[in-house]
Amino acid sequence: MSCIFCQIAEGKKPAKIYYDDEHLIVFADILPRAPVHLLVCPKVHFPNLQDIPDDILILLIQRIRIIAKEIGIEDNYRLILNNGAKSGQIVGHLHFHFLSSASGANLQLRIQSP
Ligand code: AMP
Ligand code: ZN
Repeated sequence: MSCIFCQIAEGKKPAKIYYDDEHLIVFADILPRAPVHLLVCPKVHFPNLQDIPDDILILLIQRIRIIAKEIGIEDNYRLILNNGAKSGQIVGHLHFHFLSSASGANLQLRIQSP
C-alpha cells in the first residue's frame, strides 16, 4: 500500500506520534499551519468521511476531545476535514486536522491505550 498515512500507521514511515492505539493514530502534521497541528487518522484506510464506519468515527471524535483536554485547549481548537480531492484533500486517507493557536499547549502527551 503506497498511502503515506497507512505507512505511518504501520510504523514503516517516521512521524511525531502523540497517540496510538488499535484503531487510530495521532501525529504532528509535517507542515504545521498553527502552533498545534495534529492529524487524527483511523488506522484502516478509509478514503474519506463517506466511507468510515460510525463506530470508528466516534472513536476519532472521542480521542480529539481527550487530547484537547490533555493539552489544555478544550476551548481553543479547530477541526478541518478536507473531504475529496476537489475540496483540497491531498492524502486520500481520512484524517482530521486538529489545529490550535495556543502556543503554550503542552504537547508532551504520553502514548497510551484507552
Ligand atoms: P489534506 O490536504 O487534508 O489531505 O492534508 C494532508 C496533510 O498531510 C497536509 O497538511 C500535509 O502537510 C500532511 N502530511 C503529508 N505527508 C505527511 C507526513 N509524512 N507526515 C505528517 N504529515 C504529512
Ligand atoms: Zn491509507
